[in-house]
Amino acid sequence: TRWVYGFGGGGADGDASMKNLLGGKGANLAEMSSLGLPVPPGFTITTEACNRYYADGRQYPADLAEQVRAAMAEVEKVTDKRFGDPANPLLVSVRSGARASMPGMMDTVLNLGLNDQTVEGLASLSGDRRFAFDSYRRFIQMYSNVVLGLSHDLFEEILDDHKERLGVELDTELEAGDWERVVAAFKQAVEQAQGEPFPQEAEAQLWGAIGAVFASWMNERAKFYRRMHDIPESWGTAVNVQSMVFGNMGETSATGVAFTRNPSTGEARLYGEFLINAQGEDVVAGIRTPQALTRAGREEMGDSEPSMEEALPKVFGQFVETVETLERHYRDMQDVEFTVERGRLWMLQTRNGKRTAKAALKIAVDMAREGLISEDEAVMRVEPQALDQLLHPMLDPTAPRDVIAKGLPASPGAATGQVVFDSDEAERLGKLGTPVILVREETSPEDIHGMHAARGIVTARGGMTSHAAVVARGMGRPCVSGAGGVHIDLATGLFKAGGREVKAGETITIDGSSGEVMAGAVPTIEPEMSGDFATLMGWADRARRLRVRANAETPLDARTARGFGAEGIGLCRTEHMFFEDSRIAAVREMILADDEAGRRAALAKIEPFQKGDFTELFEIMAGLPVTIRLLDPPLHEFLPHGDAEIEALARASGLDAAKLKRRARDLAESNPMLGHRGCRLGVAYPEIYEMQVRAILEAAIEVKGRTGDAPLVEIMHPLVGAGREMKFLRELTDRTAEDVFAQAGDRVDYLVGAMIELPRAAIRAGDLAEAGAEFFSFGTNDLTQTTFGISRDDAGRFLGAYLDAGVYENDPFVRLDQEGVGELVRMGVERARATKPGIKMGICGEHGGDPSSIGFCEIVGLDYVSCSPYRTPIARLAAAQAAL
Ligand code: PEP
Ligand code: MG
Repeated sequence: TRWVYGFGGGGADGDASMKNLLGGKGANLAEMSSLGLPVPPGFTITTEACNRYYADGRQYPADLAEQVRAAMAEVEKVTDKRFGDPANPLLVSVRSGARASMPGMMDTVLNLGLNDQTVEGLASLSGDRRFAFDSYRRFIQMYSNVVLGLSHDLFEEILDDHKERLGVELDTELEAGDWERVVAAFKQAVEQAQGEPFPQEAEAQLWGAIGAVFASWMNERAKFYRRMHDIPESWGTAVNVQSMVFGNMGETSATGVAFTRNPSTGEARLYGEFLINAQGEDVVAGIRTPQALTRAGREEMGDSEPSMEEALPKVFGQFVETVETLERHYRDMQDVEFTVERGRLWMLQTRNGKRTAKAALKIAVDMAREGLISEDEAVMRVEPQALDQLLHPMLDPTAPRDVIAKGLPASPGAATGQVVFDSDEAERLGKLGTPVILVREETSPEDIHGMHAARGIVTARGGMTSHAAVVARGMGRPCVSGAGGVHIDLATGLFKAGGREVKAGETITIDGSSGEVMAGAVPTIEPEMSGDFATLMGWADRARRLRVRANAETPLDARTARGFGAEGIGLCRTEHMFFEDSRIAAVREMILADDEAGRRAALAKIEPFQKGDFTELFEIMAGLPVTIRLLDPPLHEFLPHGDAEIEALARASGLDAAKLKRRARDLAESNPMLGHRGCRLGVAYPEIYEMQVRAILEAAIEVKGRTGDAPLVEIMHPLVGAGREMKFLRELTDRTAEDVFAQAGDRVDYLVGAMIELPRAAIRAGDLAEAGAEFFSFGTNDLTQTTFGISRDDAGRFLGAYLDAGVYENDPFVRLDQEGVGELVRMGVERARATKPGIKMGICGEHGGDPSSIGFCEIVGLDYVSCSPYRTPIARLAAAQAAL
């Protein structure tokens, strides 16, 4: 097997299409090299080698060593240096590189190949002894941390000690001799800590680092990141070994990161940061605050330090040309890392850049307009789920803001929450549902869980590409980074900013779009659905086949849904209307009634309310279909439980407490989800469904009379399981309708249908169609419950354990289980159509708003999906992507 692929020197063994094998970084290094761009030569050890390593109990494949040796010889040839050669040493970096980028999740070792002899070679080759020993100490520190597992603090303390003794503050003030002494102290510390000297042999160093990268695939950070981003463990990571280039060789050397367009706003302008005389990690780690790449960028930030455009104009020009080539070649916004070594440009990485939803939208629309991609491709470029970021409230621009600090607008959106300084605490409070803002000096990969739990993140240090900024954008969390005015005092549990003190637990608001940090809560407003959003949604609507409706019962939800482009209501849960304050009394009266006459009397009080609700919905949804589901929950849900509550209700309502208790006891069920609910209510108490049908149709006739436009009414019966049930319900519906029409002297069209929520209903869908169902809506919440035999209400107790143990890959109530529940959906669709070709079918369970489930709905050929109002745009986009 071939485990190793070389690149550099104007060619490569691999290319960009080989991401699965070479990882993202390795594949793109190969591609850049083949494009003739300046890439330091190196080689990639494949993800398959990593997988084999784990499959064989952490053993390298037998022929790996030989292939690595051959690849290294090739690199030596191109660079004209030799690995481990004291006089002319080749130094390499060793980095992980999985298929999907996992920023900061795994470890990197730089300057590998340095030892007591080669450091002298590096000193004389570079003519810079200080640089050589600084490089050596960096190497010892990184290697000891990543490979030997020693803490960074061990080394930081030694360095601080030296600086203190010399009376200096900055690393840059140390001289060659100082660094030599630091190196000696580092080596001694390593020997003391692990009982053997720091490895001197280049070959041994290399294998140590390769092993550490493989091992980092299974570290806790990486596992957490994978779980969060749905990355399978089976992908493995590749290892990239690449000859070093140095951005810390003086004032004509530099290192930086750039995006070909602004990753936060999408603006089509080169965007990035760099540091003169620095090594790569310095930029990302937020240790020194980097400078802007372009003059415009510098002016915008009000920086005084010169930009790269100004400080290194010639190599900057070459850089701009290079990244333009890359963007055109990949036809997407690129995120690149580069180094300038003594005036010479080297590209270290390129990849499609991560971006906020707002930027994704703008970039997709701009690129389609520029002719770089097609409109359909633009539709495919925006992740539906990411729209969520745009669909939520932002700060009301007219509301007063008590700004106490300002930082960089690192990830857009507004968030309000309690100040928390610690990631574990953020997670703990987050689990309790408390909104928190994580405030940190800077974040590291150890903070991932805290960032995830927080509503927003503030860091005092770090740039737009710092860990906090990159991770927050990826998660869609609002983030303000580099808020220099924030001074955290962990000892007293507060931060100072703008002359004020904010304690842990106090509320602040952040605006990740402006970089402002504000005291207290600031009101928010609904986002605007125009501009690029409207353009892209227009392209999506043209591409999709599935219709998109919303689950809504209140006028507010219905209006929101229409605003978001819903094409009707796919599920109006009428019980929500029963719960409202003024009605619940009549509902309880109905439940307490001793006979049908008593129930009818109580229902007569509810009917006008229901009719009013339906009228409003029909008007909002004028010309669009509205599916109204008749009463579903068991009646005891409308009664209080527990003696104390019952007595309180009796006192407040004048109802008889003893009778209430008796009735509650009579109605109690040991398994309510499978109990007296759904259409079983309609069969046992037809008067309830009759009242609802009457209210629906009278409302429809009234709206028709007033507007001249009859709504498209769909009356839906829940939890139907048998043809006979359907027949009974159909007759009940039609009989009531005829009564209404006779009384009104007018008619409207209506459809009668059923929810498919029971396996039997899916299996016998043909019977239901035969018995008069004119449409079906798959209620996949209940269908998942009844197919898995897992209670919707109790699943939370054990599903977590199932997900942790990998027994289930996903929560089946979130992502449709295509193999099981989906198979029933497929069967239902086929059998219904076999009996009644053209019968209308949709889905209204939560899955109707989940992009992957929507993909499945497209495949089985449903007519529409219905989801919560805020998810409507997500569903429209997902439906388009499913169709393309
Ligand atoms: C369903 O079961 O999928 C459904 C939409 O109905 P409900 O969630 O109201 O039970
Ligand atoms: Mg249901």
